[in-house]
Amino acid sequence: MQYDVTIIGAGPGGIFSAFELTRLCPGLHIAVYEAGHPLEKRRCPIDGKTVKSCINCKTCSIMSGFGGAGAFSDGKYNITNDFGGTLFEHIGRSEALELMKYVDEINMSHGGEGTKLYSTAGTRFKTLCIQNKLNLLDASVRHLGTDKNFVVLQNLYAELKDKVDFFFDTPVEHIEVLPDGGYRIRSAKDTVDTRFCIISVGRSGSKWMETVCRDLEIPTLSNRVDLGVRVELPAVVFSHLTDELYESKIVYRTEKFEDNVRTFCMNPYGIVVNENTNGIITVNGHSYEDPSLRTENTNFALLVSKHFSEPFKDSNGYGESIARLSNMLGGGVIVQRFGDLVRGRRSTVKRIEEGLVHPTLQATPGDLSLVLPKRILDGIIEMIYALDRIAPGTANDDTLLYGVEVKFYNMEVELDEHLESRYPGLYVIGDGSGITHSLSHASASGVFVARDLKSRQAL
Ligand SMILES: Cc1cc2nc3c(=O)[nH]c(=O)nc-3n(C[C@H](O)[C@H](O)[C@H](O)COP(=O)(O)OP(=O)(O)OC[C@H]3O[C@@H](n4cnc5c(N)ncnc54)[C@H](O)[C@@H]3O)c2cc1C
Repeated sequence: MQYDVTIIGAGPGGIFSAFELTRLCPGLHIAVYEAGHPLEKRRCPIDGKTVKSCINCKTCSIMSGFGGAGAFSDGKYNITNDFGGTLFEHIGRSEALELMKYVDEINMSHGGEGTKLYSTAGTRFKTLCIQNKLNLLDASVRHLGTDKNFVVLQNLYAELKDKVDFFFDTPVEHIEVLPDGGYRIRSAKDTVDTRFCIISVGRSGSKWMETVCRDLEIPTLSNRVDLGVRVELPAVVFSHLTDELYESKIVYRTEKFEDNVRTFCMNPYGIVVNENTNGIITVNGHSYEDPSLRTENTNFALLVSKHFSEPFKDSNGYGESIARLSNMLGGGVIVQRFGDLVRGRRSTVKRIEEGLVHPTLQATPGDLSLVLPKRILDGIIEMIYALDRIAPGTANDDTLLYGVEVKFYNMEVELDEHLESRYPGLYVIGDGSGITHSLSHASASGVFVARDLKSRQAL
């Protein structure tokens, strides 16, 4: 065997597996294969001037490379079992929380010190939300910010680079189970044999992960996609909440259809950005820790989960079709004023220019009612009015809605309580496993398998 452990994917899951393995077992031969670039070479060509929209690079620098999908993210590490994944279902609630706290400590000792840890514990907003039919979920959130998140990744790489063999721009193509134990990993550049393998390929590796599960007959489950819009409004409208909690995860049950609509990924004083998933442009957001990089706006997503029952199985395909529709009409992301949406008319460049909220993303003014299914749109409008009761101004005519925001869920891979597949020593972690959907859960799953390898596999 050339390697003791081969890790596929250098996102938070892969990085924290490598970090913990090198700490627990120095001298181990570890390889990390990453489809994307090293951190310093990651650069999205969209500059808003010469390149205004996605040009479909061979590997997307936003989603791939050292740091994974989280590298340019807002760096919000939510320490909670209430959202961000279902890791606790496999490893238990207290262990999952402990691991998330451990990840936080590592981040703090690698450049994140000084950043704020927010908490919903004992907040007065819980009561205010309940009085208005809104449910504020419990969490602690460490906000690293896009700038500090990058520094933490730089420091982690500096610490790992001499202990681990990194292969960048090298997607793994095939995994073969060896008859006498171990795995043969074929990449775009070479083939190596390894005793253990940790797959951590995130959202961008979801299609490849499907082929691995098909080839190796690993059972999977898939039935959920989240659809909605990103809301952008003056930061003062939400500042009483964001100053105290930073991110408030609020759930609203609609009166019309009894669907749950929730806030997601709140970015105080932040910017709205494009996201490219397999060539489809959707919307996302982030913000900076550095006050000089702040804007006057806050943005967050409002999402509705769509679960499908038999016979339909392709929930991500459904989300993709709706995102494609918005791309077809708008050439990318569509933006609409809330006032235009409720009046049943499209937004225009002029109406947006005359509005109170200056968009932080250049998107095409249009009509989201031509894109989103009525039931989902009705739920979002209801929730905007509900939020207006705790944050007056949310339902202003000039509030901007960008669409569509889609949260794709990887199919869930069948794994045991060690996050091990039906093949001994073949682990699947992070968002690629379908079990996690966040930086903290993905990172925690990486630490978990490293410790599991050390304790159970006699490394
Ligand atoms: C713009 C944006 C903002 C976000 N903001 C937040 C936030 O503030 N807080 C939060 O909790 N979450 C956030 N997320 C989600 C978060 O980034 C992910 O949950 C997290 O990165 C998952 O980590 P991971 O290691 O499982 O996967 P990823 O980070 O997706 O990493 C997987 C890596 O595997 C590589 N890969 C894929 N296929 C292969 C292959 N075949 N061979 C080799 N390598 C491969 C990919 O290139 C990628 O680098 C955000 C995501 C985006 C896109």
